[in-house]
Amino acid sequence: MDKIIMKTPLVEMDGDEMTRIIWKMIKDILLLPYIDLKTEYYDLGLEYRNETNDQVTIDSAEATKKYGVAVKCATITPNAARMTEYNLKEMWKSPNGTIRALLDGTVFRSPILVKGITPYIPTWTKPICIARHAYGDVYKNSEMIVEKGSKAELCVTDANGNESRELIFDFNNSDGIIQGMHNLDSSISSFARACFNYALDQKLDLWFATKDTISKKYDHTFKDIFADIYENEYKEKFEKAGIEYFYTLIDDAVARVIRSDGGYIWACKNYDGDVMSDMIATAFGSLAMMTSVLVSPQGIYEYEAAHGTVQRHYYKHLKGEETSTNSVATLFAWTGALRKRGELDDTPQLCEFADKLERATIETIESGIMTGDLYLLSTLENKTKVNTEEFLKAVKERLEQLL
Ligand code: NAP
Ligand code: MG
Repeated sequence: MDKIIMKTPLVEMDGDEMTRIIWKMIKDILLLPYIDLKTEYYDLGLEYRNETNDQVTIDSAEATKKYGVAVKCATITPNAARMTEYNLKEMWKSPNGTIRALLDGTVFRSPILVKGITPYIPTWTKPICIARHAYGDVYKNSEMIVEKGSKAELCVTDANGNESRELIFDFNNSDGIIQGMHNLDSSISSFARACFNYALDQKLDLWFATKDTISKKYDHTFKDIFADIYENEYKEKFEKAGIEYFYTLIDDAVARVIRSDGGYIWACKNYDGDVMSDMIATAFGSLAMMTSVLVSPQGIYEYEAAHGTVQRHYYKHLKGEETSTNSVATLFAWTGALRKRGELDDTPQLCEFADKLERATIETIESGIMTGDLYLLSTLENKTKVNTEEFLKAVKERLEQLL
């Protein structure tokens, strides 16, 4: 068989620890034998980030803007322990945060469903994809402890020095607390466009919810910006694609999500997304089966797994012990990026290959061959636990039958 030709490179962002080991295995076993793989390679492994003073992270984000599609391996976000472990010059920022800020992107997380791993909510037969607005609100707040007898006000000084005030509370009878937070129309608009674009891309309904009945200016602005952008830029496209934009109150949304059978994108404000994405991930069964894609309002895509570098497994690997680490989310980051590259470049062979590789992966698990994390969860009767490499080789066997 001839190798599939790629017209444009993918931006490849390598990473750390166990996922870096898996990264190479995926390429060697499942990609390089079949694709004339073209990538522009950036090493986001912590050592090289440290060596380049994190410039490599910025360069990789700029390359993503240029080429439109990236695939990223999980990376270490340094903390105090990592400072010593890697002898770092500085506590470098989270690469995901840096890339997200440079692309002004929104993160969409979706579970990969397989037979034998039943969600805690059994009616969820289709994935629920969560989008979290990752700017502002309580994550960039100012807070104060207030003493009894104080009066708290919001005060805004405009460009001409005029002040407007709004009473928060008269603390006549008790000590208390206050909190100030903000968001930006520009950030909310980018979030809305990323959500509408991704809904069209995936042909999925989009749900959005706030508490606009209580928060008549703050949350209502989110509702209004989404509604305006939908009316003016996306309504016709949604109707053509046969998908729906659905707005409701956040508590109503939660009730509907629980009753639903899945199969939509749920856009959440920052705090709602923080809380709900952990609930959704847990309810679907396994963090190792969660994919993640960063989408910019201009339609630039960066694919990755939602989990981290699986440090505990890496230390076992370093000691020469066998690991059974789940490679599925990292593999699906590659298939997502290859399919998107194929769509943009009009190379359907690349899209077909991505589809078949995903099918081979799911069928392998459904046939009972799986890594340890899934082995513990699966209700299949005939199941076998395999190691990291054996799993990828089993997928390869199935892939060859499909090609
Ligand atoms: P983690 O790497 O996601 O792993 C947490 C635990 O979840 C693992 O110890 C493992 O449990 C299980 N797990 C996660 N992925 C798995 C997989 N593919 N296969 C099997 N089991 C899996 O999170 P962490 O330990 O909190 O973070 C480790 C490093 O990753 C940190 O340095 C953090 O900064 C980084 N991180 C990066 C990203 C990213 O790049 N997007 C995201 C999150 C964290 P058992 O040990 O019980 O088997
Ligand atoms: Mg959270």
